[in-house]
Amino acid sequence: MSDYIVLVKQVPDVSQITDNAFDPETGTLVRTRLASVINELDAQALAFANMMKKISGDDKARIIALTMGPPMAEEVLRYSLARSADQVVLLTDRALGGADTWATANPLAHAIRKITKDLLKCGDDYFVVSGMQSVDGDTAQVPAQIAEELGLPCIAYVTGAEYKEKRFEFTRIISGGSQTVATKKLPAVITVAKYEHTLFATFSRTRWANKADLVQWGADDIKATHIGAKGSKTAVIRVFPPGKSTRKCQQLNDVKSLAKVLMDSVKSGNGQDDQNGDAQAGSYVLPDKRKDKFQRMFEATQKEQDDYQLLIEKIKELGIKSAVQIDDSVKEKILESTGKSIHKKTLDDMIEGFKATKPAFKGEVWVVAEHSDGVVHPATFELTGKARDLADSLETKVGVCIAGDNVGHMAEELIAAGADTVYAIEHKVLKQFDPTAYRKAVADAIDKYVPQIVLYAATPQGRMLAPMVSYRVHSGLTADCTGLDIRDSSRKGDIALLLQTRPALGGNVMATIRTKNSKSQMATARPGVMKRLPPDPSRKGKVVKHHVELSEDDVSLEIIQTELGSGEVNFGAEVIISGGKGMQSRDNYESLLGALCDGLSKKLGKQVERGASRAAVEQGFIERVHQVGQTGTAIGPKLYIALGISGAIQHMIGVANTETIVAINSDPNAPIFKQCDYYIVGTVEDTIPQLVQALEAE
Ligand SMILES: Cc1cc2nc3c(=O)[nH]c(=O)nc-3n(C[C@H](O)[C@H](O)[C@H](O)COP(=O)(O)OP(=O)(O)OC[C@H]3O[C@@H](n4cnc5c(N)ncnc54)[C@H](O)[C@@H]3O)c2cc1C
Repeated sequence: MSDYIVLVKQVPDVSQITDNAFDPETGTLVRTRLASVINELDAQALAFANMMKKISGDDKARIIALTMGPPMAEEVLRYSLARSADQVVLLTDRALGGADTWATANPLAHAIRKITKDLLKCGDDYFVVSGMQSVDGDTAQVPAQIAEELGLPCIAYVTGAEYKEKRFEFTRIISGGSQTVATKKLPAVITVAKYEHTLFATFSRTRWANKADLVQWGADDIKATHIGAKGSKTAVIRVFPPGKSTRKCQQLNDVKSLAKVLMDSVKSGNGQDDQNGDAQAGSYVLPDKRKDKFQRMFEATQKEQDDYQLLIEKIKELGIKSAVQIDDSVKEKILESTGKSIHKKTLDDMIEGFKATKPAFKGEVWVVAEHSDGVVHPATFELTGKARDLADSLETKVGVCIAGDNVGHMAEELIAAGADTVYAIEHKVLKQFDPTAYRKAVADAIDKYVPQIVLYAATPQGRMLAPMVSYRVHSGLTADCTGLDIRDSSRKGDIALLLQTRPALGGNVMATIRTKNSKSQMATARPGVMKRLPPDPSRKGKVVKHHVELSEDDVSLEIIQTELGSGEVNFGAEVIISGGKGMQSRDNYESLLGALCDGLSKKLGKQVERGASRAAVEQGFIERVHQVGQTGTAIGPKLYIALGISGAIQHMIGVANTETIVAINSDPNAPIFKQCDYYIVGTVEDTIPQLVQALEAE
């Protein structure tokens, strides 16, 4: 008999974000201007736990909802009680505020321990169920880090469950397909990626829920070891609004204009070959190598930058050549002449910063490789290119850590892509990706070689492995980075830090984050954002075999079935046309999308390849090998045409490097219209036949 502990979180309603939700001075979100709601995926997790209870036929199983947040987070607990929770726990304490994922997972895991001991008394027979990620954090790190703290298996990105022979079999999303797995032991952590069978609250249950007692605990009750901002291993340096999309977002009103755009964009292109780019804001130079000793390469708030500029002006005016000349009397003069607009403590810190030259971290820059069937994932090559750039600035080496049962043959290609050393961990237990076994192998290598930076691809595998490894080796981790740069800290002497920039709140803000109190600085980076270096077969490097003690006991999951895309597809084609769920049927996909592919191919004299969204693949419109996106393939054609595709982030990051994006969608508010160059509002059924005709006439 299993019990269920469901993690629920109160989040701002990001669907209501408007421009006035941001503070114009700081660019940060004013949360009080937004309503608070239950994180949608956590509501789905609650329904999922309820479904697990039902299909197992276990009426006595209990569902406990747990949240950590301010006292008003009680609302999501009452929501849970009104639907399916039997009991709820509110973890609330000022000391818990300002936490990153590390200092969120740690107290939640301690609260789970207390729930199992004091409230459930269920021994080892329980599941922790949560949404895959929250819309405000968007990291997917907390459940995996909770699993690591509790020493439990974790099954991420789950979309379904069946109860067979007294155990659950879960379906989950993996890179390039889906998989059915079962956990080898209980308890286990499950994260739900999609379960759209919403639970509704009855009137009587709502009345009961509104009056029911909550269990409330503070920080002292759970005895967590890392809480709040102090216990965190990352810190936000700056939050800023995202740059406006560089896409044209131009609506066309007739198919004739669209036909012309299609032809022109393939013939001439629109020159947008670096849409998303991890822009290089000037390469970093270590302090000892700088010509001007007062030059600081840092990223900071506007006030910090203004203070710095003012200080430099004053230093020049006073004819100071070196930081050691700045004694107390000089500081007094600077403070006087700036009219005390620089705070004394800020001035002291900045002067300390001038004197510091020693990097805060040392060691190599590492990439943790992803591979399947003996083939390295393209994102690993992109990250190796980025690691090369970072390591060159830091005057250190690039290491690629690759684990599997037979991986040595991939080393040559990794060295050609920019690696100096390939750390190969080979063991038969690592034949298939198992989060628990892989995290033990990778963490062991990190413990031994202590790289200063570790990068992982933000694929389902990387987003699962990285949080577990980071927790195990006591290091901070930033998810889904779109920018990675080396900079100094703005004030004190923290030199050569990895600054990690990522979108948050569903892409409504960007945040730059640094690592603190950690062995290594760790980040996952979105596939398709960093640039792969052209392979250089003449590069020399070495392979270091790293041995880790592993046994079958380290494998946490039984893989029952894997469904991966198979067949031939040429995503190197200059033109790719994808169909989404809006194509309505396999027949429509075949006839409409097929006709447009043929028409355009004839007109251009080029191959036009077929793509699809994940939803279209799931509907069976086309085989999985054609899926474009985060868990499909990241592509970069000259022209991408999206038919009946809404524009979900997981789809759009797969087409970020496309020159021209064209969309046809019947919904005038489809999100894709804000992320494309040209669009037509209309149904695919009406628009495509007219477009094919217009192309013939072109
Ligand atoms: C871990 C994870 C990984 C994922 N990886 C991927 C990935 O790699 N690739 C991917 O694509 N998704 C991925 N997804 C799923 C993604 O979040 C979206 O659910 C998916 O992209 C939606 O596909 P869609 O746009 O075809 O469907 P929907 O979101 O359902 O949109 C259908 C669109 O069609 C329009 N429409 C309806 N009827 C018509 C008509 N007659 N004519 C014209 N337009 C019409 C609608 O207005 C709507 O905008 C992933 C999700 C998760 C959780």
